[in-house]
Amino acid sequence: MPTRKLYWEDAYLKEFSSKVVSVSKGDRLSLILESTAFYPESGGQACDKGIIKGEGFYASVEYVREEGGEIIHEATKWEGSVKVGSVVKGMIDWDRRYRLMKMHTAAHLLSAIIRKVKGGGVKVVSAHKDYDTSRIDFNVKIAREELPTIEEEANKAISKGAEVKAFFLKRDEATKYVARYGEDVGLVPPEVEEVRVVEIVGLHAVACGGTHVRDLREIGGIRILKRQSKGKGITRLIYTLTEGGRP
Ligand SMILES: [Zn+2]
Repeated sequence: MPTRKLYWEDAYLKEFSSKVVSVSKGDRLSLILESTAFYPESGGQACDKGIIKGEGFYASVEYVREEGGEIIHEATKWEGSVKVGSVVKGMIDWDRRYRLMKMHTAAHLLSAIIRKVKGGGVKVVSAHKDYDTSRIDFNVKIAREELPTIEEEANKAISKGAEVKAFFLKRDEATKYVARYGEDVGLVPPEVEEVRVVEIVGLHAVACGGTHVRDLREIGGIRILKRQSKGKGITRLIYTLTEGGRP
C-alpha cells in the first residue's frame, strides 16, 4: 500500500498522527506508516529528520526513503517498542525542512532566471538541495561575469514575491503547461499518468515532487557561492540562502 503523502497535501504540516503499517528491526528500526509528513530523499531534495513517538516508544528519525510508493522512516536510536496497528505521532524537524523548502524553491527560481539570462534551451541536468548549500547543474556555459546579474535578478524576484503552487495534471496537459516556460516532463517516469506540476506563477513551471514555500518572498535571499565548469558545456552553481524570509 502506498503511503499517503501528507507533505503534498500541506507542505507546512509539522506534526501528524498515523497508524503503523510495518515495523522491522535490525541495526536500525524501519517504520512504515499509513500516512506521513516526512519527506523522503528524492528529486534532489534531502530527506526530513525528526521524531516518531507513541505509548512507551520513541524513535529519532535520521533517514527517510521511498520504495515502491512506501515511505520508510529509519532510526538508529530508539527506546521501547511499537506494534503494527498502533497510532504514533510524528514531528518533523521544521527548521531543517523549512530551509530545504526555501532551497528547493530557490532552485526553481534560479532555473527560471538562467533561462531568462541565457535564452531558450536551458535545462537543469541535476540538482541537490541540502541544508547548508545546494547545487544545480545547467546544460549551458555560465561565465563568472554573469553571476552578479543572475544573483541580482533572483533577489529582485524574491523581494517582489510570487505565488508558488503545486497541482496535478494529466500527462499531456502537464506537458503543454510546462512547455510555456520552456520545460518538459521527460524526466517523469513513463508510467506516471498524473503529473505534479509546481509553478512559480508568471515565472516558471516544472514537474516536481518536492516541497516548496508558498511565496518567493519566504526564500529571503540567494547568494551564489561558487561556479564550476563540469565539462561538456555543463556549469554547476553552488548557492546558499541569506537571512530573512519568514512566512
Ligand atoms: Zn521542486
